[in-house]
Amino acid sequence: MSGYDADVIVVGAGFAGLSAADVLVSAGHDVIVLEARGRVGGRVESAAFSDGVKVDIGGQFICDEMPGIMALTRRFGLPLVETPLEGAFLIQRDSKSTEPDYTFAESGRIRARANRIDPRDPDIAGLTVEAWLAGQSDPPDVKAGYQAMIEGLWCRSVSEIPLWYVIDNDRRTASKGNELQYFVEGTVHAVAGALAVVLGDRLRLDTPVTHIARSNGSVTVTTGNGEVLTARQVIIAVPPVMASRIAHEPDLPKPLADAFGAWKSGTVIKALIRYKRPFWRDRGLSGMVMWRDVLGLFACDVSSDRASALVVFAGGPLAAEWSGKGAVFIQSEITRRLVAAFGGEAGVYMDFRMGDWVDDRWSGGGYSDVIVDLEAYAAEDIIRTGAPPVHFASSELASSFPAYIEGAIIAGREGAGRVTAALQAQDQSASATRASGS
Ligand SMILES: Cc1cc2nc3c(=O)[nH]c(=O)nc-3n(C[C@H](O)[C@H](O)[C@H](O)COP(=O)(O)OP(=O)(O)OC[C@H]3O[C@@H](n4cnc5c(N)ncnc54)[C@H](O)[C@@H]3O)c2cc1C
Repeated sequence: MSGYDADVIVVGAGFAGLSAADVLVSAGHDVIVLEARGRVGGRVESAAFSDGVKVDIGGQFICDEMPGIMALTRRFGLPLVETPLEGAFLIQRDSKSTEPDYTFAESGRIRARANRIDPRDPDIAGLTVEAWLAGQSDPPDVKAGYQAMIEGLWCRSVSEIPLWYVIDNDRRTASKGNELQYFVEGTVHAVAGALAVVLGDRLRLDTPVTHIARSNGSVTVTTGNGEVLTARQVIIAVPPVMASRIAHEPDLPKPLADAFGAWKSGTVIKALIRYKRPFWRDRGLSGMVMWRDVLGLFACDVSSDRASALVVFAGGPLAAEWSGKGAVFIQSEITRRLVAAFGGEAGVYMDFRMGDWVDDRWSGGGYSDVIVDLEAYAAEDIIRTGAPPVHFASSELASSFPAYIEGAIIAGREGAGRVTAALQAQDQSASATRASGS
């Protein structure tokens, strides 16, 4: 490694960067991880209720079909809580709540119908989800249910998202079961913290990367603090929109720069509302609500032995609108809506904690960046190919579970695999040069 600060510099300490670094350190490589924020975890973050009980205000839920994150919780001995789902699920229309009617199941069937289409089918080329939906013969309230599902999950308007992208993305989300199956009792953010402990002083917080200069055999990384570090390879483990803000010398090849231009950040707000007890269960309710007068709003029960709480997600255009109105508005709007669904007791909470991820400084938003260019079919492959010795990895690029914590782990490990291959090629070429010179 002589002459370099590290074999590999990893930019970003979200689950992708931490997982890449974990693999590379285990393989014996010298690694430095540079993280812009004063904490690890990225789009996974925790906050504390007033008595100190910690909750995830970013990524939270995991399931048995996600082997990477499940193995990490076991490795670090972090217990899981089964998400309480028993009881009735409500659909809330204005002030009226009903149990889910045929529209809920039917909107799921539109999703399944879309997923049967080949994402490269020329018949859907150039179609947004909105344009495709307009051509379907389903009743308007069923279409509204599907729109709510797409905007709530992909966190952008259906008028922007290419249909092929949603299909391709959804097919790569391998889960056939319940993605809300578990949450980590002491927060999934604690898993990121445990990975950071393994890295020790290889991890540098409050160190944003601003500039990367690459040459054939090495990379020079400049940080906002004025440090200049060199390595043989770099992995930029940040979402595509954030990656596009790092300057490169020479400029990234045009196809790669264009591929980054195809993405926009998702818009999402998450709130955790803590109660003395799970009072909604008295009426046989699960705590799960899907709103229909606004699209992309969803609530469910995240109570454990430590705290009784509901979580509320606002995704897509609704989150962008609410974020613009500020935290006080969001808190009162969520409270008003929970009272309409569950009665007055929902207004008497102990704590209200919120993660407003819209335009988040270092992630851009959540749950994930989304392709909004109708023709950018190759964008993910081009970014995965990168500009060696500069490589890219973030949840968006994962071969499965893109946009999930599991996807970030997979993308980080896949990125580490590409870097390991590149390091081996560098070693072989150096020994060939030495042999020919001797
Ligand atoms: C509100 C919310 C709820 C979610 N819920 C779930 C859920 O329940 N289950 C689930 O599986 N997933 C969920 N997700 C998605 C999941 O959290 C993300 O897909 C995953 O954490 C992304 O990890 P990542 O490492 O790819 O990116 P990130 O977590 O964004 O990590 C990138 C890191 O890079 C850093 N960075 C950015 N720019 C620079 C720079 N220039 N220099 C240095 N560092 C930089 C950032 O600070 C960040 O730490 C949720 C996300 C949000 C926002």
